Amino acid sequence: MSGYIRWLGHSAFEIYLAGNVILVDPWISNPLSPVSVGEYRGRVDLIVVTHDHMDHVGDTLELLKINPGARLVAVYELANHIGEQLGDPGRVVGANIGGPVRVEGVNTTILFFPATHSSTRGVATSVLLSDGKTSVFHAGDTGLFSEMELIGELYGVDIALVPIGGHFTMDALQAAKAVQMLKAKVAIPMHYNTFPLISANPDDFERKVKQLSPSTRVIVLKPGEKYEF
Ligand SMILES: [Zn+2]
Repeated sequence: MSGYIRWLGHSAFEIYLAGNVILVDPWISNPLSPVSVGEYRGRVDLIVVTHDHMDHVGDTLELLKINPGARLVAVYELANHIGEQLGDPGRVVGANIGGPVRVEGVNTTILFFPATHSSTRGVATSVLLSDGKTSVFHAGDTGLFSEMELIGELYGVDIALVPIGGHFTMDALQAAKAVQMLKAKVAIPMHYNTFPLISANPDDFERKVKQLSPSTRVIVLKPGEKYEF
């Protein structure tokens, strides 16, 4: 095993890559989550937040407090806001859509891409994490957009984490199309069944991926489960 992805429900993931523990959109206290925020005390190297909605920022502030060595990377305006709330601007790295971002002490390259979604501070993003061997794309909250094809073409996506719950994001059909455009080797659905408005059946997503992108393997995780690679 060189790494793993652990789904914590909603869009929250623990990703172990190149020796670092990275939390993405850490709403650890979401209704589906089997773990408590305290379980991550002193274990986290990096937190990545895709946009400033509460179900994605989640427990970031608390996690930064109980992980004094951890940094946060997010779009500039959001990162600065969290740095102010924390009272320690040195702990946050403000970035933006574009070229690679490196964070001291973290062996993974971070690239922010657009997400077609709203945000109060800065813009909504998707993010690609890569250690040079494995690339993980977290789509954030987004509708379908054709530039996803460029991400797959330029960088190659090994594992895509895609929202399937509809209403605020892509549904199963659009997410399957996204996976096809990304040319992802593995796809993991997220952002569904947290509350009734985003009810979805992951088997339906799997069927649609089989039709549109037969070479992609769909892994449906239960909250708390890991996919190792
Ligand atoms: Zn959102």
